[in-house]
Amino acid sequence: MPITTPPRLLLGPGPSNAHPRVLEAMAHPLVGHLDPSFLELMDEVQDRLRGLFGTRNEMTLPLSAPGSAGMEACLANLLEPGDDVVVGVHGVFGGRMCEVSSRIGARVTRVESEMGTPLDVSAMADAIARVRPRVVAFVHAETSTGVLQPVPEIAAAAHDAGSFVVLDCVTSLAGLPLELDAWGVDAAYSGTQKCLSCPPGLSPVSFSERAVTRVRERERPVQSWFLDVGLLAGYFGGERVYHHTAPISAVYALAEGLRVVDEEGLAERTRRHRAASRHLIESLAPLGFEPLVEEGFRLPPLTTLRLPAAVVERGEADVRRSLLLDHGIEVGGGLGKLAGTIWRIGLMGENAREANVERLVAALRATLT
Ligand SMILES: *Cc1c(COP(=O)(O)O)cnc(C)c1O
Repeated sequence: MPITTPPRLLLGPGPSNAHPRVLEAMAHPLVGHLDPSFLELMDEVQDRLRGLFGTRNEMTLPLSAPGSAGMEACLANLLEPGDDVVVGVHGVFGGRMCEVSSRIGARVTRVESEMGTPLDVSAMADAIARVRPRVVAFVHAETSTGVLQPVPEIAAAAHDAGSFVVLDCVTSLAGLPLELDAWGVDAAYSGTQKCLSCPPGLSPVSFSERAVTRVRERERPVQSWFLDVGLLAGYFGGERVYHHTAPISAVYALAEGLRVVDEEGLAERTRRHRAASRHLIESLAPLGFEPLVEEGFRLPPLTTLRLPAAVVERGEADVRRSLLLDHGIEVGGGLGKLAGTIWRIGLMGENAREANVERLVAALRATLT
């Protein structure tokens, strides 16, 4: 008996629903990872990723692992044991960057802001000027809080101190414009299951020339053989020699997902994400939901809303469970300090449409009455 799966509208913090064309692409028969047809597809994938990241970096590639491995790859390549890193923490994923960095043996300086607010640029600049770290790392799109962090000023402060900039773009790639080159970002990572509308499992990453040069000049080799960008370059850098077996079906999916994105165009896709999120906030206001994040710093693909009393009294986890089991709609609860007080509603990629907002609002009304 083949497996069956329930129909779900995935409006949580990820994964989002995959585009039907992406699911069809995954069902294609396998070819080898060194097959000329596959290498051609990989060239296309790398090229389209450069477009979405806003970079000309040669080392732009789909890492064969989820977003957290992309985080680990960026930090493990640029940090050596004993190096300093300044991490901006405005949510759970900034916290994860600290954890990853300290396991690498780096000395971590945390610059924290209240959950739901962006990083304080002058606090970041002060810490960077004082520590003069090897790496400055922070999250562009904090999926745990729904904050969109402005990048250029912090990146400029990092460059003034001679630091490398690592940016988490997991929930912004293909949902919002990215300009890695213009912003001066040296290493960035993303995931396929958010605004790209592909299944989880790959992490698009990009390393600048300057970052790759730094990796080649390290005193000690990168601790992780698998994530060493110098070794990954053997396969992804043009020579196309064996490093590991690329996950063929996942790359088919990403290739198709990127074609869908480019057919729509990033400008239209960005507009659609903004419109859907605005519609969500307006539609849930009459039910008593209030945005957690100040206007101007809201992250359109992931909206965080404070819960009204009616939902808290019913038990917010029970309401989410009813949305899932009775209506087939997944939304996310709060994380850490925000658990029990907010919901995280993702309108990512294909899902960023007003019709999905209508479905959620109708299901919520039915659940609460
Ligand atoms: C989802 C997410 C990650 C982790 O990605 P995984 O694919 O779950 O490993 C990292 N950072 C942010 C901002 C995310 O939203």
